[in-house]
Parts: sequence; structure tokens; C-alpha cells
Amino acid sequence: MPQSDRAVPLLRLSDVGKSYALGRSALARLLRREHFHAVAGLSFDVAAGESLAIVGESGSGKSTVARMIVRLIEPTGGDIEFNGRSIVQLAGGDLAAFRKQVQMVFQSTMNSLNPRKTVATSLAEAIGRDGVPILDLLDMVRLPRAVLARLPHQLSGGQRQRVGIARALARRPTLLVADEPTSALDVSIQAEIIRLLRELHRTAGVTLVVISHDLALVGELCERVAVMQTGRLVEIGHASQVLHAPRERYTAELLAAIPRGLAGRRAAA
Ligand code: ADP
Ligand code: MG
Repeated sequence: MPQSDRAVPLLRLSDVGKSYALGRSALARLLRREHFHAVAGLSFDVAAGESLAIVGESGSGKSTVARMIVRLIEPTGGDIEFNGRSIVQLAGGDLAAFRKQVQMVFQSTMNSLNPRKTVATSLAEAIGRDGVPILDLLDMVRLPRAVLARLPHQLSGGQRQRVGIARALARRPTLLVADEPTSALDVSIQAEIIRLLRELHRTAGVTLVVISHDLALVGELCERVAVMQTGRLVEIGHASQVLHAPRERYTAELLAAIPRGLAGRRAAA
């Protein structure tokens, strides 16, 4: 595989579509259709070491894209390549190797962490035989050793999300996909988690795809921003261009909906 070829992006989406079968659901009756097109004609690249944000309103297809990139679900059209190789047909050992390299951070660690397992057990399982040593992992996400003996409900929301990030980092992934990693957290804690992700991106060199509906937060974290609306890409570009001089009216409207001054937030970053 052309892994050393600089022209090959780490991640490439080519004309990706995803339609969900609606079956006999109420939504199917309402729409008078059997399929719902959540994502259509989506194409973009992510270079190794880059950070890309995907923003858009609720329902615009962001989580669907995140799940397709990590292959929790498969596209119904187009192709997704990782290191120049289609991930859609991966199976067996190749799929296992892919799963080690591409990890997801979820919005709610209340659901993604097992409530009956201590942090030590959850992390040990994620680390497996050849992952990052557990104490190094705690250092990476700035958690004290005391959390190891605790259960998820004995942690604060911010600490739980740090455990979620530690689990995602346990096998030294190349690409981290974070789906609304801060939206279940208090505002003061959101900034801490964003700072942590930025630090991991800069120091550990992990490539980031961060999904968020908070444009101010992603402006602090990501170099490029992709804007989605009803399953399609509206625009993509450098964060400073998209957030300060958007080409599309939809992006401008999203920006206008931010309550606090973006300029102040960016200056504080
Ligand atoms: P976002 O993360 O931007 O809020 P999603 O990707 O979760 O958007 O959803 C995009 C659209 O697809 C929404 O209209 C949602 O209702 C629909 N959708 C998501 N998952 C399913 C599913 N499993 N079955 C049917 N429709 C779905
Ligand atoms: Mg979502």
C-alpha cells in the first residue's frame, strides 16, 4: 500500500452516501418513502496530522459521517479510503488493524463506559497486550492515579470524558474521530477537554476529526472546517476563512447564531 506516498491523504471520502432503510416506520409513512438519505455526495480529504472539524445543525448527518469513517456503519454509496485503501470491504485481520488505528470518542461516556467496571479495568481492556502503559495513559489525559479504582458514576463528567479519550488513545491510533466530545459537559469543562484534544493533536501528532455544532469551540481546535447541511457539504476550508469570511450564506447564518463573540474566544485560545 502506498503508505509513504505524500500525495495519498490519510482519509479520503469520495461521493459518499448513506441512506437508512425506514421500513414500515412512522417516519416512512410520513415521508412516503422507504429510504432516508442522511448523507449524499460527500467528498473530502484529511491529511495525516491535520485537524478537521465537521459542523452543522442537528440532523445534518454529522454522526452518520463519523460512524462511517470508523466503520461502525457502512456507506450505501461512494467509497472511504484510509491510507489509500478502501475500508468498505475490510475484513478479518485487515479490519482488526484498521480498528486499532482509527478510534472514536463519543459524546456521552455515561453510555459508552461500562457502569460496573472500574477505570483500571476499562483501560486495561482497551490497552490489551501491546497498548500504552496505563500510567502513561493517565498522564496523557491528565488524570490522577486515584481514579483507577473508581467506577464511572464516581467520576465527574469531565473526568469521565478523559477516561473516554484515554480508552481511545490506548492502542496508539493514527486517527481520532470525536463526535460532539464536549456537548454533554458544563461550559467550563468543555474548554478543558478542547485544550486536551488540542494538546494531544499537537504533541502526539494524532490526526483529528471533530464533530460539533459549536463553531466557536471548533475554531479553537481545528485547522480546517467542513460545514454540512441536510447531508451535503456546504463548504470546506481553513478555519479562519470559513469562520471569518464564509463563502456560503448557510455558514454565515450558523455563525450568526453563536451567542458569544467568536473573536474573543479565538483570542483567548
Ligand atoms: P447529526 O449528527 O448531524 O445530528 P445524524 O447523522 O445523527 O445527524 O442524522 C442525520 C439524519 O439521519 C437525521 O435526520 C436522523 O434522524 C437520520 N438518522 C440517523 N440515524 C438513523 C437510523 N439509524 N435510521 C433512520 N434514520 C436515521
Ligand atoms: Mg450527532
